[in-house]
Amino acid sequence: MVKKTKVEKSIGVAIGKNIKQNINVDYKNIVKTNDVKYPTSKVNVANLEKFSKWIINKYGERKPIIVGGILALLGLSGILFSLNSISDIFFSFLPSWFKAPSDIAVPFIVISVIIFGLGCYLLSLIQYKYESKCPKCNTFYALEEIGVPAVRQVKAHDGVKKTTTRHYKCKFCDFTKSEPFTETIPYETQY
Ligand SMILES: [Zn+2]
Repeated sequence: MVKKTKVEKSIGVAIGKNIKQNINVDYKNIVKTNDVKYPTSKVNVANLEKFSKWIINKYGERKPIIVGGILALLGLSGILFSLNSISDIFFSFLPSWFKAPSDIAVPFIVISVIIFGLGCYLLSLIQYKYESKCPKCNTFYALEEIGVPAVRQVKAHDGVKKTTTRHYKCKFCDFTKSEPFTETIPYETQY
């Protein structure tokens, strides 16, 4: 709830900036046309929870974290290694010897992205155990999403501010929470 007020404040500031740039526009009108609300769907975490429990039961937490971390770093290095070969200008901060031969750069980047994704997925399986922990009864895999998540979109000077609010409830006690997540979508990347 506190977070929501913060978001509204920053939106207010953003709208304020817009008004300064265009003083002929009516303030009330901006607020009305800027504010769009609509429901969205819940995140399906069934597989994430299933694999998270499975991997921790089988290997514990340390091994997946180490393997996931190594894979993510290897993948990331591979991505930079091949990007440095594709573009010298954008990756000038990398040493010139750190580049894939140009004929294998494209397949190399595909493999690197897969390895990076695999590493991140392994890490996210462990992260989910702690994310789903109830802070009240301290049970893991306890929080589940309830109700209908809502999206609120407001146009600001640097892009559309999209706030998604999701509601969670503990399966084992009476704990509930609402969590807003705000992202800014820059105007240039919208279609
Ligand atoms: Zn609980």
